[in-house]
Amino acid sequence: MDTDYEFDTMAERNVPNEEECGHECEGCPSSSTCESAGAKTAGLPKKADIDVRHVVLVLSGKGGVGKSTVSVNLAYALAAHGYKVGLMDLDIHGPNIPKMLGLEGQRLTILGNMIEPIKVTGNLAVISMAFLLPDSSTPVIWRGPMKMTAISQFLSEVDWGPLDFLVVDLPPGTGDEALSIIQLAPNVRGAVIVTTPQDVATMDAMKAAKFVKKLGIPVIGIVENMSGLVCPHCKEEIDLFGSGGGKRIAGELGVPFLGSIPIDPDLRKAGDEGRPFIIRSKDSPTWKAVDHVMEELVTEVEKE
Ligand code: ADP
Repeated sequence: MDTDYEFDTMAERNVPNEEECGHECEGCPSSSTCESAGAKTAGLPKKADIDVRHVVLVLSGKGGVGKSTVSVNLAYALAAHGYKVGLMDLDIHGPNIPKMLGLEGQRLTILGNMIEPIKVTGNLAVISMAFLLPDSSTPVIWRGPMKMTAISQFLSEVDWGPLDFLVVDLPPGTGDEALSIIQLAPNVRGAVIVTTPQDVATMDAMKAAKFVKKLGIPVIGIVENMSGLVCPHCKEEIDLFGSGGGKRIAGELGVPFLGSIPIDPDLRKAGDEGRPFIIRSKDSPTWKAVDHVMEELVTEVEKE
């Protein structure tokens, strides 16, 4: 791992460390995210106490490639196969997942001293910044340390129960949210990188993959989304954005290719209408593609 990079980044974000801080650790408000007592670990945040087998990050190099759509549908697919799944929307500045799940306007409740995540199905629960905002047009203007605190709370203060998978939808690019979740979450198995097939997207996906590797986190695999369109009239496949770009970069990076998901107007519609795509489309080629990606993902994370 490139630790210099990590420590520089932490310093930029004002995460307290022993020398600079000068506070007694006992009673310090940052004590839940700071291990300043040990010289070697000074400034490194503590891992959250959450019972999860696999934390899977979903990332993309750029926006609009279907990262949130893939996160939501992977989470559904895992839950449909009986896994206990948490879905964490860390796209703090543009949280779309509640809309895609038909949960807009929902508010979080506190039971005891823990936050209840919003239940989607018996074994799928979700948490998002959107549940804390007055409405969907309110912008979040936060610096890194505030985001880190929110992410820490999303992990430690949410009553997830035991989870097989925590799927984390990250904002596009290489920002604070990815750094924070990697530092705070236990059992981070790695990142799924979502791209569309064309060069301008795969180039950015390569960058995201290199960012993840630089942080010492494996790339679980690449997903090529919007890979071909089946014409609803003639049923011929049209390569609207080309195809094969995802597989090519997986080869170049030496990481698994998890599969491709076609452009499907029903998938877009399901997202816009906030209903689970799986319910009406379980037998469609698109759902089979999602299911295949999910199976490849499970195979990869269970390998160790
Ligand atoms: P991102 O999270 O990368 O910004 P989204 O998941 O929000 O992207 O997707 C952007 C738009 O593309 C949404 O309207 C979504 O419904 C649509 N979309 C994503 N994947 C597909 C697909 N395979 N077929 C059709 N529409 C898709």
